[in-house]
Amino acid sequence: MRIVIGQGSCGIAAGAEKVRKALLAANVNPADVSITGCIGMCYLEPIVDIYDDDNNLTRLVKVSENDAAAIASFVESGDVKAVENLVVTEEDSEFLSKQTRIALRNCGVINPEQIDAYTNAGGYTALKKALCELSPEEVIEIIKTSGLAGRGGAGFPTWFKWNAARQSAGDEKYLICNADEGDPGAFMDRAVIESDPHNLIEGMLIGAYAIGAKHAVVYVRAEYPLAIKRLKNAIAQAKDKGIIGENIFGTGFSCDFTIKAGAGAFVCGEETALIESLEGHRGMPRLKPPFPAQSGFWRKPSNINNVETFANVAWIINNGGEAFAAMGTEGSKGTKVFAVTGKVKRSGLVEIPMGKTLRDVIFDIGGGMKTDKPFKAVQMGGPSGGCIPSDLIDTVIDYKALGATGAIMGSGGMVVMDESTCMVGMAKFFLDFTAKESCGKCIHCRIGTKRMLEMLERITKGEGKEGDIELLEELCYSIKDGALCGLGQTAPNPVLTTIKYFRDEYEAHIKDKK
Ligand code: SF4
Repeated sequence: MRIVIGQGSCGIAAGAEKVRKALLAANVNPADVSITGCIGMCYLEPIVDIYDDDNNLTRLVKVSENDAAAIASFVESGDVKAVENLVVTEEDSEFLSKQTRIALRNCGVINPEQIDAYTNAGGYTALKKALCELSPEEVIEIIKTSGLAGRGGAGFPTWFKWNAARQSAGDEKYLICNADEGDPGAFMDRAVIESDPHNLIEGMLIGAYAIGAKHAVVYVRAEYPLAIKRLKNAIAQAKDKGIIGENIFGTGFSCDFTIKAGAGAFVCGEETALIESLEGHRGMPRLKPPFPAQSGFWRKPSNINNVETFANVAWIINNGGEAFAAMGTEGSKGTKVFAVTGKVKRSGLVEIPMGKTLRDVIFDIGGGMKTDKPFKAVQMGGPSGGCIPSDLIDTVIDYKALGATGAIMGSGGMVVMDESTCMVGMAKFFLDFTAKESCGKCIHCRIGTKRMLEMLERITKGEGKEGDIELLEELCYSIKDGALCGLGQTAPNPVLTTIKYFRDEYEAHIKDKK
């Protein structure tokens, strides 16, 4: 029997490390105990997976250290009765079985601290294929065929950015991973790094080869210590095996790898602000053009993608661009990872093909509301996104359809709300966040978001007055038009979408003075 304990941050926070220690103290064979990353069912942590000699899985959920003796007895005897109160239900199992996992394919399956676990799962074969069998242009062509778009929020075609960086003159180029995941409620990138760091490294090395970069850099927020630890460990292992460094696989291609821990400024998710921060400056966006593909890190051609984007690359090289493009819709290909949180029954990591609906994620996979109150809205895309109301629950998940609602796909945060949520309060929460995170470079964003926040505070205190809603809308459009970067341009989205779909709540606050 093998005992595998889910030890992503979610599992550890729920007590997984205590469970591991209790199991070892309960005299199970230490050699049979190992860890994995985030299994995805965060609402059921701590989770212990037990595999018999034929690799049949018994999944135990909401395990505590007090269950160690019962688990040890099950491992010893094979009699499931000892742990039957812990076995995951069929209904809960559907949370994973209804997903299609590409970026998350190894998450919660392999040991993220062992390179052999990754290579045994087919890891680094795509890198070998790219370096030994494909030219950089052919790699870019495969990514173009796949239709992979940047998963950080903007949805820009990945091949186009890679090609622009490849075409830029110069020997010194950089490939950068944006792991500065800052949206409240989002944890997709953290889970990928904690659970499958070699997949990120492999995707980045393929990207570096494609654009001609000799340097790869991961910009990861310092609030993710476990992700940083596992990534450092993975980089050291890959260096030991000659996968990072000089003359990789004897092909003449060389690439070094560094990690920079960012201080947690939301604006550093904007690629030029990220570059400023990497260079040791205050994280403030640069004027574009020039774009990073021409003049980025240290003014050298640079390409930046986020974690989830890179997490798809090795799979695409191994399976072909057509296989990825076969999933999804006309304009949005492949799968997308969402961090589903809030008032939903089953919260966690969900990866589904584009083209599914919000209903599929929230009700079919997420199990609907965990309260007895009806579903009211879902906030998509964090502070840059918007609230989508219940009557648009059948909206298809693709960039265009979500954009048409006034929200955005964003990086994958999905906060589910029930009837008890005040939508004006929700808009205020997100605006408070963006007002604090504004870097202050341009006046519309720096001052405009503060004035909007003051108005929302007045309205929610019952001190709003006639004309406030119209003034809020005017300010929203003025900030959108005048802001330099995506943070300011999208900051009004939560306010605009809540006014659009829940205007009556604004009016009620103002009229009823509540
Ligand atoms: Fe800074 Fe806001 Fe201007 Fe972006 S829009 S550069 S965050 S002040």
